[in-house]
Amino acid sequence: MEEISYHSSVTADGKRRWLYPLIRKGQLYRLRTWLSYVLLLFLFSAPFVKVNGHQFMMFNIIERKFILFGQVFWPQDFFIFVLAMLIVLISIVLFTIAFGRIFCGWICPQTIFLEMVFRKIEVWIEGEPLARKKLDESPWTQEKIIKKVSKHSLFLLISFFISNTFLAYIISTETLFKIIKEPIQQHWIGFIGIWLFTLAFYLVFSKMRELVCIVACPYGRLQGVMLDKNSLVVAYNFLRGEPRGKIKKNDEKALGDCVDCNLCVAVCPTGIDIRKGTQLECTNCTACIDACDQVMDKIHKPRKLIGFYSEEMIEHQHKPTFSLRMKAYSLIIIIMIGILSFFLLSRKDVDVTILRAGGMLYQEQPGGYVSNLYTAELINKTMNPIKINIKPENPRAKIQWIQGVDSIAKESTVKLTFFVLIPAKEIKKSNSPIHLLIEQNGKWLGKEETNFLGPVN
Ligand code: SF4
Ligand code: SF4
Repeated sequence: MEEISYHSSVTADGKRRWLYPLIRKGQLYRLRTWLSYVLLLFLFSAPFVKVNGHQFMMFNIIERKFILFGQVFWPQDFFIFVLAMLIVLISIVLFTIAFGRIFCGWICPQTIFLEMVFRKIEVWIEGEPLARKKLDESPWTQEKIIKKVSKHSLFLLISFFISNTFLAYIISTETLFKIIKEPIQQHWIGFIGIWLFTLAFYLVFSKMRELVCIVACPYGRLQGVMLDKNSLVVAYNFLRGEPRGKIKKNDEKALGDCVDCNLCVAVCPTGIDIRKGTQLECTNCTACIDACDQVMDKIHKPRKLIGFYSEEMIEHQHKPTFSLRMKAYSLIIIIMIGILSFFLLSRKDVDVTILRAGGMLYQEQPGGYVSNLYTAELINKTMNPIKINIKPENPRAKIQWIQGVDSIAKESTVKLTFFVLIPAKEIKKSNSPIHLLIEQNGKWLGKEETNFLGPVN
């Protein structure tokens, strides 16, 4: 007998079993559809919407420049970005402990694109599961060629749009538009990149499909260690459902509520039977809940034979609890959000780093002054040019510029070199701290501390 229970997209002899999931529109499916529209709108518009002249979202890994909700994070702010990402990661872990892999079924772009875009196109062109299966198994007739070419052309076109949007997040919309508008010869790498990603997305959504969630995604694999008996996951209430069996007239046998119709398996996009318990392949998409609810309505039994249950809820009729593990993670998230908020609020538009030039001591200057050479790196994180002035806090000290600038262009970095001169009679130690005042567009911005070497009188 063929045993395909725990890897239903794989046959007993290890081959891929192509799935033809059925779509059943229930309450949760409709909710998921609306959520997916919102997420798709966000996904496709976020890199093209501008806030204060910045892209709304960007993850430029190459230049280590990130923009989250219009807030720019430069390489110098990288730790803030990492902290924000850590918070997202821990929140996903907490969410998984509490609600299982619901992120996969409801929010993950892979599922949204596959179930709400590509699958719908496939059903629209090729029909319901049986018709799709028959078409795949039939010889190449004119009808089959037209259907397959139409479907794959649409898949390629959508993959092309996804690829462009994906690159807009990575290399910025400006660079993407340049690749599109300017001659190919000037942007060979960008042009090849667009088509490579198009091909990758096309293969993911037309061929790999659920294997991405089952085999490739590390999050799915981690699920086993994150779940506990209090986690709410899509589960079959076996106490209520078993012994399962088809309803037969005049059959006196006492059966559970499951009529063994297999509809929950037919709608499953990963091809599993949820009645066999929580499985790695389950993305918590809730399609089986909708399907089973419809069956329960028909046979006049209460809904939620399959529903969101924890092990404790099914076996001991316990109410959902906020476990110690969840409390600990929540506390960590609250602390991390506090730290992140502090860094965000104390973040400045201009970053100034001043260092005394290495390998040099002091210089004796005319007029009884002693000088030290400094280099300064200034980063303008704003979308406007700014004027920066540096002056010593000590009114008797002065600055002699070697390399200065009038203004710093928007989103750019400049390096300055200058001497700080201090009257020799004021130097009491061979190495003493000095403070330099920074002004931005005539307004006081901050104070930088560095050290000054000099002769001891
Ligand atoms: S859909 Fe419900 S009734 Fe039908 S087999 Fe699945 S659990 Fe049983
Ligand atoms: S078992 Fe149910 S919730 Fe899990 S993937 Fe299949 S249909 Fe979705």
